Amino acid sequence: MTFEQKLAAFAELAVKVGVNIQPGQHLLINTSVETLPFTRLVVQQAYKAGAGRVHVQLTDDVISRAFYEGAAEAEFEKYPKWIVAQRDELIENKGALLWIDAQDPDLLAGIPVERIVAQQKAGGEALHNYRQAVMSDQIAWSIVAVPSEKWAAKVFPHLPEEERMNAMWEAIFKTVRVGEGDAVALWREHVANLEKRATQLNDKRFKKLHYKAPGTDLTIELPKAHIWASGSSKTPQQTTFIANMPTEEVFTLPAKFGVNGYVSNTKPLVYQGNIIDGFTLTFENGKIVKAEAKVGQQLLEQLIANDEGSSYLGEVALVPHASPISASNILYYNTLFDENASNHLAIGEAYPTCYEGARDFTKEQREEHGINTSITHEDFMIGSADMDIDGEHYDGTIEPVFRKGEWAF
Ligand code: ZN
Ligand code: ZN
Repeated sequence: MTFEQKLAAFAELAVKVGVNIQPGQHLLINTSVETLPFTRLVVQQAYKAGAGRVHVQLTDDVISRAFYEGAAEAEFEKYPKWIVAQRDELIENKGALLWIDAQDPDLLAGIPVERIVAQQKAGGEALHNYRQAVMSDQIAWSIVAVPSEKWAAKVFPHLPEEERMNAMWEAIFKTVRVGEGDAVALWREHVANLEKRATQLNDKRFKKLHYKAPGTDLTIELPKAHIWASGSSKTPQQTTFIANMPTEEVFTLPAKFGVNGYVSNTKPLVYQGNIIDGFTLTFENGKIVKAEAKVGQQLLEQLIANDEGSSYLGEVALVPHASPISASNILYYNTLFDENASNHLAIGEAYPTCYEGARDFTKEQREEHGINTSITHEDFMIGSADMDIDGEHYDGTIEPVFRKGEWAF
């Protein structure tokens, strides 16, 4: 396949498999000017697939940074109502939402943490309706990513400048199974495999998972009604979509107050255009009681202090160390990729779809069932070739789940 053919196949994949656009459906694309040539292809593909109207909301890394550098302090506490209204209208019309990410991992490096945190909080609170719709799969949504110059330079600093973008494109094509034949068919097969894993774990119905690795000794209790899910989701209208491309994980939620011990990250976390790394979190009855980072300590502390739910976990995800993204040995500095190369957890909001019957629960009902709610949902990577995980059954028997970073069954 030529580069142009792969590009076209990727655009088609985002539309047909990612958000799985339906006839007449509206599509909102959130992206940045760095992705324009690819985004134009996606828009064309969307109309070809029958989309009613495609709206592209563009940002620009330089302009985004200028806001954080130059705006008045009070602005960071506010969030534009029209952005909230734009998303709410899309949700009301049962439109689909596509993110095309290309962000420079160091976009907001050096910006006062208070500004970043205040804006993140203001946005998180203003967009509560949108967050609920996304977290409970009320609308079809998907995230893909394409290279930008700055991002490619971060990932391939050792390559000559003129080769970086191409190396990045090829790496991304591989992770989304483009270029090896019929990508749509390959995805069907891939998703079926992930679903098989989720079904196995649902049948086992573990009471607890016990993680052991250098820097990690953590016990996570799972609620009795937990559901292991794969990257394939369904709207209430029964439209399937893939929320993350790539996706290699199966995931569920923890019992909010059932996490104890400590866990260390194994890949850097890029949070709000800044890097947090070399960190260990200590848990007592679900709550993070200690957070220590070698890089980004202040931002990590702020992330955990976003709201009450930000100091509890909301996601438990399993990814074998030998997953294709991990085997590529590329550190992407982007959670969409790095989380799919590693076992991970998320701080903050849990997916109600991972708990029997909770999809339409109110926030209060979720909390009553020990399902964490928060304006935060931030995945961080903890997997390695040294990680063992044991599952504890309700009768007390122990079964290996992971050995040396790989599935034990
Ligand atoms: Zn995840
Ligand atoms: Zn997550």
